[in-house]
Amino acid sequence: MLVGIVARDLVKRFPGGSGRAVDVVSFEIGAGELVALLGPSGGGKTTVLRILAGLESPDEGRVLLRGVDVTDVRVQERNIGFVFQSYALFRHMTVRENVGFGLEIRGKPRAEVDRVVSELLALVRLAEFGARYPHELSGGQRQRVALARALAPGPSVLLLDEPFGALDAKVRLELREWLRRLHEERAITTVFVTHDQEEALSVADRVIVMNRGKVEQIGTPEEIYDRPATAFVAGFVGSINELEGEVRGGRAALGSLAVHAPPGAGDGTSVRAFVRPHDVELVGVTSRVEKRSSVEVATARVERLVRVGWMVRIELKLGDDQPLTVELTKDRVAELGLTEGEEVFVNLRDAKLFVQDYSI
Ligand code: ADP
Ligand code: MG
Repeated sequence: MLVGIVARDLVKRFPGGSGRAVDVVSFEIGAGELVALLGPSGGGKTTVLRILAGLESPDEGRVLLRGVDVTDVRVQERNIGFVFQSYALFRHMTVRENVGFGLEIRGKPRAEVDRVVSELLALVRLAEFGARYPHELSGGQRQRVALARALAPGPSVLLLDEPFGALDAKVRLELREWLRRLHEERAITTVFVTHDQEEALSVADRVIVMNRGKVEQIGTPEEIYDRPATAFVAGFVGSINELEGEVRGGRAALGSLAVHAPPGAGDGTSVRAFVRPHDVELVGVTSRVEKRSSVEVATARVERLVRVGWMVRIELKLGDDQPLTVELTKDRVAELGLTEGEEVFVNLRDAKLFVQDYSI
């Protein structure tokens, strides 16, 4: 894999800030890769992006672009395109003038500017809108113009900081798919920051999860979702149940449930288990099915049934009052004859166990 971006041991403290905003962050991004920097607000994502861009200089560490150390290279000379959440377009310029601006200031000939602008407007599906002014566009269209403007000078790296954050849910969804397609056509090394795990998992080739200035995990969306490396990642990514328990008799007891104990964890060790709603098996209503012999099967009470489109979210309470949420289709709920207040048998297909914060 050709390397597009290397961040090596980046550290950043802000004057007056408490501690390190970026606390020894390292990663490599392949040339042409689309990577999401995902994490909660205040985790250090924007600061990392600004360091990559050269808008902020790190206290320690290096940044390499295509193998060249650019840590001391000025922002204008890094050949990077940016789009921020509210990256204002020039209000007094048309769409064409906005997109062509970066080429004009570089003194490119008229014909070349025209050609590149037309190409990019076609790419962002705004060919018909060249003569409009920003206030004549929707929010989603403006962000596409901002993206075309960032792409115009032919950057080798594109950095997007919550680019769709200010837009409504439906437009965000469209722009997500659009960004994915754009990336397939252009294959520019792209890093986009988001606090939205669904956005990160659905768009990116790989995801870097950041929290409190540190990298928690780097992996493909599948790895992040299926094999969270830390309890933080397990809790942050995907809708999930968190159960507490301890190891007893070689098994991890979680409320009325029991699963395999983490290897090497002796009796009395406290564990946290993360369970996806679709990894909970609802075996049936206790009054109507035989209890299975499996030791994992436990009883729970149906507290609430919430219909969400074609799914039903079933909120259960385990024997020791720990809540557990399951998702089933409407048809399955009808088939089981579930109603609120009933007792059911449940089983866990999968649980991710952590002793303190370490993955097992
Ligand atoms: P994120 O983008 O993940 O929300 P940021 O990189 O913006 O996180 O911020 C990381 C931490 O650094 C936060 O605690 C934030 O308050 C602090 N911070 C960011 N920029 C500055 C600044 N210019 N001056 C002081 N503190 C800052
Ligand atoms: Mg930010």
